[in-house]
Amino acid sequence: MITFNNISKVYNSGAQTITALDQVTLEIKEGEIFGVIGFSGAGKSTLLRCVNALETPSEGEVLVGGDLLATLSPKQLRKKRKTIGMIFQHFNLLQAKTVFDNIAIPLYLLGYKKRDVKNKVRELLSFVELSEQAHKYPDQLSGGQKQRVGIARALATDPSILLCDEATSALDPQTTSSILALLKKINAAYNITILIITHEMNVIQEICDSVAVMENGRVIETGSVFDVFAYP
Ligand code: ADP
Ligand code: ADP
Repeated sequence: MITFNNISKVYNSGAQTITALDQVTLEIKEGEIFGVIGFSGAGKSTLLRCVNALETPSEGEVLVGGDLLATLSPKQLRKKRKTIGMIFQHFNLLQAKTVFDNIAIPLYLLGYKKRDVKNKVRELLSFVELSEQAHKYPDQLSGGQKQRVGIARALATDPSILLCDEATSALDPQTTSSILALLKKINAAYNITILIITHEMNVIQEICDSVAVMENGRVIETGSVFDVFAYP
């Protein structure tokens, strides 16, 4: 579903060059929950942002759903991005908008019709168990509720891939578990491929099928979670 083929990313900041990704090759299969773990600065978010072309690798290829991203036209890329949802550590909600509108507005911007938007938002709110909170504002919600709004928004375009950028790092352990359970439910219910970047080992152990360990822009180990982390 996602292939990173020998990708590197070099940032030039003034006289300095920073190698954020160094010849990364990974294959993420359809329907899989794949975790990337590593310390801060390892290159995880750069890697994640290559999937929806928020970053372009300096070298190498990224394929998503069989398409080489570098060869897509702007129109094709917009279409591809609708197949990729994303959730964030700090939720990235519009503070001046209700829960309902936070999910609805991106759909309006994508040109969806009003009736379709309303039906879709209601369905999503029910799925993430926030129907009662539809008219509240983000600052009236708990962290876990905010992330469930983020998840509903990410699912609004019926994506086949969900990218999770430290999605539980701002949450307490109990809320983390409930969000991870919801991600697992999404993966099972819709066969959505989930790519998670995290610095938290428990996230990998709780829901990931496969894992890659990153250090200094490189993948230093990858395989099933069992194989990589089952110490003798
Ligand atoms: P992680 O997500 O694992 O913390 P990042 O992908 O954010 O790692 O960063 C990898 C490296 O690339 C770090 O050294 C970071 O400082 C650097 N980096 C990330 N984005 C930029 C940028 N836009 N410009 C310059 N350096 C960057
Ligand atoms: P309009 O007046 O534009 O025809 P409505 O009166 O149906 O639309 O909705 C006004 C606002 O109420 C919407 O912008 C939306 O934020 C909110 N809303 C509409 N339907 C629901 C719903 N089922 N649950 C929560 N909020 C809703």
